[in-house]
Amino acid sequence: MQVTKAVALGTCFGVRDAIDLALESENKKDLTILGQLVHNPQTVLRLEEQGIRNANKVEDIETKYVMITAHGASNKVKEEVLNRGHILEDASCPLVVRVHKAIKKMVKDGYFPVVIGQESHVEVRGIVGDLKDYEVIGSIKDVEKIEGYPRLGIVSQTTQPIKNVLKIVEAIKEQKHEDIKFVDTVCKPTKDRQKAVEDLCSKVDIVMVVGGFNSSNTKKLKLVCEKKGLRCHHIEGVQNIKEEWFYADDHVGITAGTSTPSDVIEKVYEYLCSLEVSTLFKGTIS
Ligand code: SF4
Repeated sequence: MQVTKAVALGTCFGVRDAIDLALESENKKDLTILGQLVHNPQTVLRLEEQGIRNANKVEDIETKYVMITAHGASNKVKEEVLNRGHILEDASCPLVVRVHKAIKKMVKDGYFPVVIGQESHVEVRGIVGDLKDYEVIGSIKDVEKIEGYPRLGIVSQTTQPIKNVLKIVEAIKEQKHEDIKFVDTVCKPTKDRQKAVEDLCSKVDIVMVVGGFNSSNTKKLKLVCEKKGLRCHHIEGVQNIKEEWFYADDHVGITAGTSTPSDVIEKVYEYLCSLEVSTLFKGTIS
């Protein structure tokens, strides 16, 4: 059985830097992360073992130091943290900060702000959190919501599939607005991973998509594989792999979401390489 990893996979620099900032902080025992730093169970456990706490609401925080995750937060939320007497440790990814700046500039220039993304996602809530009026477009069917605005300023959540974003922008252009300004804010690590998984799909028979079961970008990677008609499984680690998934002559691909640590990916790779071909299933796989 041949095993190949996607050329770009796993933890992006933004998430990696945020994890390092938390684990290397001198204030670990007095630190709360606001929201989930990563959607990955192994990393969440590591942080908990170091005594780092987690809270979803500012009012629930009991420590002096508070960390903003790589997904960023609105100025409103940051001010609330400071007004309650906490000290901020800001791990916002610079590529998320870039989106905040881009949309604020467009609002200043008189454009109605539009974000292509998932309305409930913490990054999107941070992007729109300081805006008075805005729309979030999750899919093409949502574009009717912005038909009446003459000047539109559009950005996207950094982890959206770029192909979907461009399709939505085309659909908006067909509405014939007076002026549309679109800033492509899908981040490079996301684009690299999206391209890498497509390349991987063209080579392999089956794909292991490694990442937290609550990680939305891992779920999106699995969707890409499914659309290509490949057998694929979303796993959190070696413990979820079943030998009966594989034929002896399978070429297995591995990809992973942007919050999946490299040691988890490596273990999956090593485990698959070590599978005894003679023990693998040779019948029809359902
Ligand atoms: S996915 Fe992109 S924007 Fe988000 S943390 Fe990673 S590098 Fe930054």
